[in-house]
Amino acid sequence: MQTYDFIIVGSGSAGSVVAERLSASGRYSVLVLEAGGSDMRFFVQMPLGYGKTFFDPAVNWNYKAEPDPGLAGNTDHWPRGKLLGGSSSINAMVWIRGHPADYDGWRDLGNPGWGFDDLLPYFKAIEDNEAGADAYRGRGGPIRITDNRARAHPLTKRFLKAAVEAGLPLNQDFNGAAQEGAGIYQINTKGGRRMSMARAFLRPAMKRGNVRLETNALATKILFEGSRAVGVEYVQNGKKLVARAGREVILSGGTINTPQLLQLSGIGPAGLLGEFGIPVVSDNPQVGANLQDHQGINYTWKARVPTLNQLLRPWWGKLAVGIRYLLLRDGPLSMSMNQGGGFFRTDASETRPNMQLYFQVFSTVIPKAGERPILTPDPWPGFSIGLSNCRPTSRGSVAIRSSDPTIAPKIVANAYSTNHDVAEMLDAVKFLRRIAAQPAMAEVIAEEMLPGPVCQDDDALIADFRKRSGTVYHPVATCRMGPDPAQSVVDPRLRVHGISRLRVIDASIFPLNISGNTNAASVVTGAKGADMVLEDQG
Ligand SMILES: Cc1cc2nc3c(=O)[nH]c(=O)nc-3n(C[C@H](O)[C@H](O)[C@H](O)COP(=O)(O)OP(=O)(O)OC[C@H]3O[C@@H](n4cnc5c(N)ncnc54)[C@H](O)[C@@H]3O)c2cc1C
Repeated sequence: MQTYDFIIVGSGSAGSVVAERLSASGRYSVLVLEAGGSDMRFFVQMPLGYGKTFFDPAVNWNYKAEPDPGLAGNTDHWPRGKLLGGSSSINAMVWIRGHPADYDGWRDLGNPGWGFDDLLPYFKAIEDNEAGADAYRGRGGPIRITDNRARAHPLTKRFLKAAVEAGLPLNQDFNGAAQEGAGIYQINTKGGRRMSMARAFLRPAMKRGNVRLETNALATKILFEGSRAVGVEYVQNGKKLVARAGREVILSGGTINTPQLLQLSGIGPAGLLGEFGIPVVSDNPQVGANLQDHQGINYTWKARVPTLNQLLRPWWGKLAVGIRYLLLRDGPLSMSMNQGGGFFRTDASETRPNMQLYFQVFSTVIPKAGERPILTPDPWPGFSIGLSNCRPTSRGSVAIRSSDPTIAPKIVANAYSTNHDVAEMLDAVKFLRRIAAQPAMAEVIAEEMLPGPVCQDDDALIADFRKRSGTVYHPVATCRMGPDPAQSVVDPRLRVHGISRLRVIDASIFPLNISGNTNAASVVTGAKGADMVLEDQG
């Protein structure tokens, strides 16, 4: 049995940066256990390969949520990365920090050190922004942020014009002074390749002699001596192995897997653990509770002008974009599926945006088994405007359904289970049509394909978004941080309440979801959490 100073479970967005920080001084030995395998795969590295990894069990946990009454009984697909870099290796690479007030909200819930001013230095330090540094942005950090303003498709620029005609300001940088408005998304890529957190942090750390990485290593149980975490049991190549942690065990398995591992290890709701004969180490009903996620939907139109469908679908188009990508690392394959987007308020009384927009210069109305058919889009010219809510009030849960760690936990999303969430989404989908009706868009639209012109009154619009919407893959808060052990799982220094030498450092600790995509916030959680670990070593 090997002993390391730190054992990190999970090499995802947060785990990668934790491994980098804890190993930087050379004073500590670090073991990283990753259930998945390598990220050196073409469709992981190529940004628009996104559609191919979306259902691929070789790199994806491929979770299914429970049938959800809020989604017309649908069983939603919940992809999560199962490879080096975790979900940062299969995500859409949209680089968004959220709204400053989100983090001030975290701080005001009793979490000192987590306000926006506290975190801004971290956001700046981790990035290398192509657009340059300013009061908000960073240059020279490990994550290359590509500024795609000059590379956007002409139709994306048309979308921006229409959004302005619909009343939104043009926004040059959603991570700058203001979040509201329409603009081109910055993405985390470098040289046309995905800049995953494994690429930014884990691989450089692995060049140091003090980091050991075990892939295809599923952590199955945290080991305790009394209420002190002392190691991790894991399974690799069918063999049960144990590693000991001299200093701390750090869970970075993400919003679904971290509460699952805690519950399997005896930290969770005593009733649930009892059902599966798991001895209780700490009875905490908050483990797996408070699940928060963003729900989203696309409206799709047939266009009078060519879209990326005409380039990505035919063999000769695939050849052209493929050669361009291979030779120049450029063109549509090097960009996110979401070229443009924005943030808006459905109601002027909102103090900050409560909805996010996404513009896609292709359409995928016709499904294809086993993949999200971005690289085989519809045969006619099409495009979509999507949206997702920023701070929904619906809450769900994650709970084990077996003591067997290989059985996926039960995910209950409870989407649109509050009147608030339904009402704001209704206002939001109406705004999508308002953008499409503006002159800049209307003149290139042939017809609305989804939901289609018959869908008009409020009941029909609500029924449609219940039927067609689903997760936009930003689940958080199942091990939320807070000062009160009765209301949270970790304290503001990310230590599991009532247990020593055990921390959670990943998106599951967010007390509230942020207004936007969750990757950058997960990385900053990793960086801040690692600093706390180091500070506490004395
Ligand atoms: C399809 C998709 C699209 C997205 N698009 C965007 C986007 O465009 N922009 C954005 O900002 N965010 C996006 N996100 C969200 C963002 O990627 C996540 O919020 C973020 O990566 C979460 O980081 P994490 O560290 O909490 O978990 P993850 O990055 O998911 O890392 C968890 C890691 O732990 C490993 N692991 C789990 N359990 C175990 C175990 N028991 N033993 C060993 N290893 C284990 C997993 O395999 C994984 O590698 C998207 C997510 C998905 C899935």
